[in-house]
Amino acid sequence: MAKKGEKVIHSEETRKKISDGVQRAYDEGRLIHWSKLHPEAFHNKKGFHGRKHSEETKAKVSQNRKGKDLGNTHGFTKGHMPWNKDKPHRVHNAEWRAKVSKATSGPNHWNWKGGVDSFNRLMRSSSKHKQWAKAVYERDNWTCQSCGKHCQRTEIIAHHIISWKKNSILRFDVSNGITLCRECHCFLHKPRLGTAKPPKPQLS
Ligand SMILES: [Zn+2]
Ligand SMILES: [Zn+2]
Repeated sequence: MAKKGEKVIHSEETRKKISDGVQRAYDEGRLIHWSKLHPEAFHNKKGFHGRKHSEETKAKVSQNRKGKDLGNTHGFTKGHMPWNKDKPHRVHNAEWRAKVSKATSGPNHWNWKGGVDSFNRLMRSSSKHKQWAKAVYERDNWTCQSCGKHCQRTEIIAHHIISWKKNSILRFDVSNGITLCRECHCFLHKPRLGTAKPPKPQLS
């Protein structure tokens, strides 16, 4: 008997016998394809698919399961009460949201950069910054220095000529500020995305 994986080399005589047998079966119209003779062993029957346990096996399985609380393994039974039934939805619960916010903000946030970002944001919204911006608006008479539009509080922006990041000393220097409308400011920072006309050269 050949071992698994070993190539079987039939003798010349055996080969002739097989060949003759196959030829004869073919002539007689008999089914000789191996996979058709043994469909239960053929590969397109995956695992136990399409096969049945014998009565003996069934009895064994039954005996094995007796007295064991196998239940259903999905965790839901008839009349099962969900843990959150009649409770307010977690996400709509202010307390829960505050908890999550606290747990995922600041140093706990995945994108935390050591407090730099929040520091800048804090400075920008500080009253010092507001005072500086107001001084800039008043000096420029609440008018966009690029397109000349008179602006309302909601559309006006005090732009730093030398950027906020580059110069911390000039941050609150009124001479480093210029009044722009939202459109012109947008264009200044992202010329391609902006819808306004390009700012006049006086900006630089
Ligand atoms: Zn700006
Ligand atoms: Zn403008």
